[in-house]
Order: sequence, then C-alpha cells, then structure tokens
Amino acid sequence: MNRINTLEQTLTTVEKSLDNKNYSAIFDELSLDNEVCIQVISDDELMYYSNFYRHCANKDNEQLSELKDDFIDSNKDYLKIEFINNGFNNKLLLYGKKVNNDKYIFINTSLEPMDKSIELLKSQFIYVALTVLILSFIISYYFSRRIADPILKINNEAKKLGTKSSETNFICNTDVYELKELSNTLNEAAKELSKTDELRREFLANVSHDLKTPLTMIEAYAASARDLNYNNKKKRERDLNVIIDEAERLNMLVNDILVLSKIESKTNKLKIESFNITDFIKTILERFAIYKNDGYTFEFNEEKSYFIEADKKGIERVIYNLINNAINYTGSDKKVKIELIKDEKTLTVKVIDTGKGIEEEDKKLVWNKYFRINKRHRREVVGTGLGLSIVKQILEEHNFDYGIDSKINKGTCFWFKCKTKK
Ligand code: ADP
Repeated sequence: MNRINTLEQTLTTVEKSLDNKNYSAIFDELSLDNEVCIQVISDDELMYYSNFYRHCANKDNEQLSELKDDFIDSNKDYLKIEFINNGFNNKLLLYGKKVNNDKYIFINTSLEPMDKSIELLKSQFIYVALTVLILSFIISYYFSRRIADPILKINNEAKKLGTKSSETNFICNTDVYELKELSNTLNEAAKELSKTDELRREFLANVSHDLKTPLTMIEAYAASARDLNYNNKKKRERDLNVIIDEAERLNMLVNDILVLSKIESKTNKLKIESFNITDFIKTILERFAIYKNDGYTFEFNEEKSYFIEADKKGIERVIYNLINNAINYTGSDKKVKIELIKDEKTLTVKVIDTGKGIEEEDKKLVWNKYFRINKRHRREVVGTGLGLSIVKQILEEHNFDYGIDSKINKGTCFWFKCKTKK
C-alpha cells in the first residue's frame, strides 16, 4: 500500500510538473527520493527517462517495454499493473497515464526490497517480541516489588492502629514519593490517635477522682442529714449547705471539662470580631459585683475605649477565669486590679492581685490541666484546676502572647497581648 501510494503521488507530481522548465531536475529528485523509475514520452519522443535508477533498464527489459507499448497502442488513459518480471526476477509495479493525448507518463518500481524487509521483520519479530516481553516482565516485577513491598509493610503497621496506635511506626524504606508521603501522614495520624488515647486516660483518671470526691461528700452529708441530724435544724442546715457547695463544685468541674474538651477538639471555630474591650471588661466586672459584699475591691480605671480583634466569647472566658483566680488567690487586702496598656500594635490586658505569688518553677506548670500549686489544701479554694488550661488554649488559638509576672508574697500579674483593630 505504501508503494502504491508513493507511485500515485509521484505520478500526480510528475503530471503537474510537465510544463515546468526544470522538469528534468524535479523528476530526477522524485526518482531518487521515492526509488521509482520515471519515463515520459511526448509526441512519440522520449522526453525524460531516469535511467540512473536500477529498475529503469527499459531497453533491456522486453516485458516492461511491451507493457508500455501495449498501453500506448490500447488508447487507454490509465495503466496499473503488478507483475513478475523475468528480467529482474522479482515483482514490479507499473503505472502509466496518458496526458493531453500526446504525452505518456510511466512509473515503475520493484517490490523486492519491501518483500525482503517484511520477511526479515517477520523472522525477527518473534525475537523482538520475546525480548520485549521478558524485559517488560522484569521491569514490571521490579516496580511492583518496589511499590507493593512498602504498601504491604504499611498495611501491616496500619492493622495495629486500632489497638496499639502508640506502637505503630510507618518507616518506609522507599524512594517512591507518594508512599513516603502516605507513611508520613499515617505517622501523624497514629501520633494524634495515641495522643487522644493518652488524653482519654488522663481525663478519666483526673475526672473520676475529681468527681468522686464531691459525690462521696454529697452522699455522706445527705446520709448524715437524713439519719443523724434530721431533727437538729442547725446541723441539718450545715449538712445541706455542704451538699449544695459540693454540687456547685461538681457543676463547675463538669462545665470546665466540657469547655476544655470543646476547645481541644477544635469543633468551635474562632469568630474573630472587633469590639470595645474597655466596655467589655466593665460588664464582666459587674458579674463579680457580689464579691464587693465580702470586702473585695476591683480597680479598673480605664476611660479610653480600646478596640481589639478577637473571639468575644473566648476572651470573655479568659478574662473571667483570670479575675476569678485573682479573687481566689489575692491577699488579705482583697484587692484585684485590671490594667490596659496600649502600644503600637497590641493591647496588653493585665489582671493583678496582691496574693502569695507563684514560684518561678510553677509558672510554667500552672497552665497544665489539673495542676494546683497547693494540692494538700486544694479544697480550701473552690477550683477545678482547669481554669488556666482553658485560658491557655484560647490564647494560643488566637496566637496571642501571654505570661505571668509574679513576686512572692507581693502578688501576681497574669497578662496577655491582644491584636488591636487596624
Ligand atoms: P484552679 O481551679 O485551681 O484555680 P487554675 O487552672 O485556674 O485552676 O489554676 C491552676 C493553679 O494555678 C491554681 O490551683 C493555683 O495554685 C495557681 N494560680 C492560679 N492563679 C493564681 C494567682 N492569681 N495567684 C497565685 N496562684 C494562682
């Protein structure tokens, strides 16, 4: 088909170039490029003949000459013939065309080289195919091992995730980028899982202890009120007050745990808004007004309105917890002071008390969950040990700086720096 196409195309080009002055050069080139023999007869004269081409031995080849003569005599317009040529001893393809009644174009070529190439290719094809097959098998085996082995390893490790997440380690000796990424992601997931597991255990240990104490007290005092002091109004009232206090403590604890777990699980997204912190602190202080009856004084002399950008609910909890702690741990003068200090980009909120202060070594620890400095007297002050961890979580979520300045027996200042409105 390829040869037939070539011949047909050459024929068309020859026909088009018949009137060209340089037809001889064009035909030479066509003849060489396409490995064909071109012969043009005009008015019974030989106009062009590419006799340098080996299959153009027209004069010596009777069969070929006869076919051409027959075609001219036949008065037909088109000739297309494939035949075995005795002179060359192989197949020839001959095309002929009558142009303008006085010109004849003949083009012929041998099919011999094609047949040989096809034969050669056929005999070699089996070896080529076999080699390619073996090579592709080796390569695919190599690649599948390189990918499948690490995947199997990852899979074996992943099976442990459910039960022993802390022991899993997705180390993957592979240079396949995607598998490396996968094992890194799984390592992260395993870390998170074991953290959750640890938190769950720590939570259970602390909570069960903290819940148990007030519950035991409630049970004991309720029994005492019913069985022992039922008729003694004064003692019964004392028992009932203890029960109410303990229930309050329980309520506080459960609330704090819920808040903390909500913040830690990051289910609530921060709702950043701009608000007037000066007025906001004033309204929070109003909630503590009841303490004034017990002799507490709150100093907050800020008159200028400052605007900060933060989650209002979160900041409310932070300030509330800090003031609450300041009340709980302030000195005998019962003073609590709140200050706002503005610098170029931030506004520092300070909650200051006049209490015993916090030792240097405890400054970092007070932010931990369930940490209380004086554990032995822990029941003296109502608290859950969760207040500052809630403060820490909220401030870190905001990316706000925070810290403690404290002098022993002089007092403590808890501060945090908020972003001000641009
Ligand atoms: P608690 O419910 O015990 O107050 P917090 O997390 O709020 O829990 O505080 C942790 C511990 O840090 C407290 O138990 C207390 O020992 C210490 N602390 C907190 N605030 C102050 C303060 N203003 N002055 C001295 N110590 C404080």
